[in-house]
Amino acid sequence: MVVTKDLSRLGRNYVQSGLYIETYFPEHEVRFVAILDNIDTAYDTSNNDIAPFKSILNEMYAKDTSKKINSVLQTKRNLGEYLGTAPYGYKKDPQNKYHLIIDEEAAKTVKLIYKKYLEGYGTMQIADYLSKQKIPIPSDYNKRKKGNKAISYGLWQQSTVRFILSNEIYTGTIVQGKRKKVSFKSKKFINLPEEDWIKVENMHEAIISKEDFERAKKIITATKGTRIIQNDYLFKGLLKCSDCGGYIGIKSPDKNGNIYGRCQKNARYSKFNICTPHSFNYQVFEEQIIKVLKEICKQYTNKTKLEEIAKKTKINKTETQNTQKQIELLTQEISKETKKLEIMYEDRLTEIITPEEYIKKANKIKETIKKHEETIKELKNQQTNQKNEKETETKLNKLIQEFLNMTKPTKEIIREFINKIEIHNDKQIDIYFNFKPLQDITTNQTKIICAKKEYEKKAS
Ligand SMILES: [Zn+2]
Repeated sequence: MVVTKDLSRLGRNYVQSGLYIETYFPEHEVRFVAILDNIDTAYDTSNNDIAPFKSILNEMYAKDTSKKINSVLQTKRNLGEYLGTAPYGYKKDPQNKYHLIIDEEAAKTVKLIYKKYLEGYGTMQIADYLSKQKIPIPSDYNKRKKGNKAISYGLWQQSTVRFILSNEIYTGTIVQGKRKKVSFKSKKFINLPEEDWIKVENMHEAIISKEDFERAKKIITATKGTRIIQNDYLFKGLLKCSDCGGYIGIKSPDKNGNIYGRCQKNARYSKFNICTPHSFNYQVFEEQIIKVLKEICKQYTNKTKLEEIAKKTKINKTETQNTQKQIELLTQEISKETKKLEIMYEDRLTEIITPEEYIKKANKIKETIKKHEETIKELKNQQTNQKNEKETETKLNKLIQEFLNMTKPTKEIIREFINKIEIHNDKQIDIYFNFKPLQDITTNQTKIICAKKEYEKKAS
């Protein structure tokens, strides 16, 4: 039986509510009661027939409320009232929270970024310049403004510079409504085309002239498409630097056709002495890791392992049976005790036993029942654990079979197996598996992989 206060509690979407009331509930013999709307499917009344219409009204009501809220926000946007948090370079006007005023210190950096860019510096060069000048990045800057004094200096990212260079707000224009919700029913947003954006000019003092902004925009759009599409390598995204925890980047082939992996943070910020290269030949690496993976999978499935697993499942099976039996026994025990309680209650009614005796004995029985119930709960937990273990095992077996049958493994299957691979500076490699049995095999072997020798051979 499902009981709700009124129909709208079941769902604000009439297709959904209708589906439940007309199909799902009757099919599953569920009685539905909406108290305030006088609906009870156990009785065939005219009120039940009105239910679909009430559902539609509920939906219209929700739609209407959402429209009203949207139109208030829309009016604010049309008036050019700024609704977000203040962008880097500005702060909120203490007199009017919808108005922006210049934050002199940050505005100086914004001006510097535009100046350098228009002088021909690239976004990366500008980012590095700002880092070297120890100019705090916007997030650090905001923290400092809030009074947080112990600030470490983060490094400027190219993307931050690019973002500042393409934000029209610096010309005094407010651009809002770049995206909208798909519908009031959904939480998804869609991006709107530029001609639908709401732009209101001269809403606050400009930091950058419109001409400079347009010039910068032209350069940005011109350089946008030139970025090289990166190759999709088998282990891309799984390789981590053991020292800084960052990703290991894989470069495009060099003129000799060699592909190298290198700590991304080191490659990007080598001028700032961050981390060490951790570089290695990716082709040799890939070959070796696949070999090792196959070896581990074979070890897992080889005869002795199979026997071990068989033994284990046998034990598991009897274990599972035992648990089930125990649960059944305890359940029987509980019903016995409950019966005792009932008999005693009757004895009390016919005054065979005294009230004191009744309370004393009843409490004892209740305690026993409670203890049994707790044990059952524990046993049931054990059961689910056993079941989960079994499921993982089945999944792993299937995966290994699939993998061993592949001539060239896919990215997907590699990700099923491996959580991450750590690369040490001495080219020692640690594989972290998603499955414990595979991890156990790996850690039992001492230093299985080292691309060093192979790599050095190839390099010389
Ligand atoms: Zn690193």
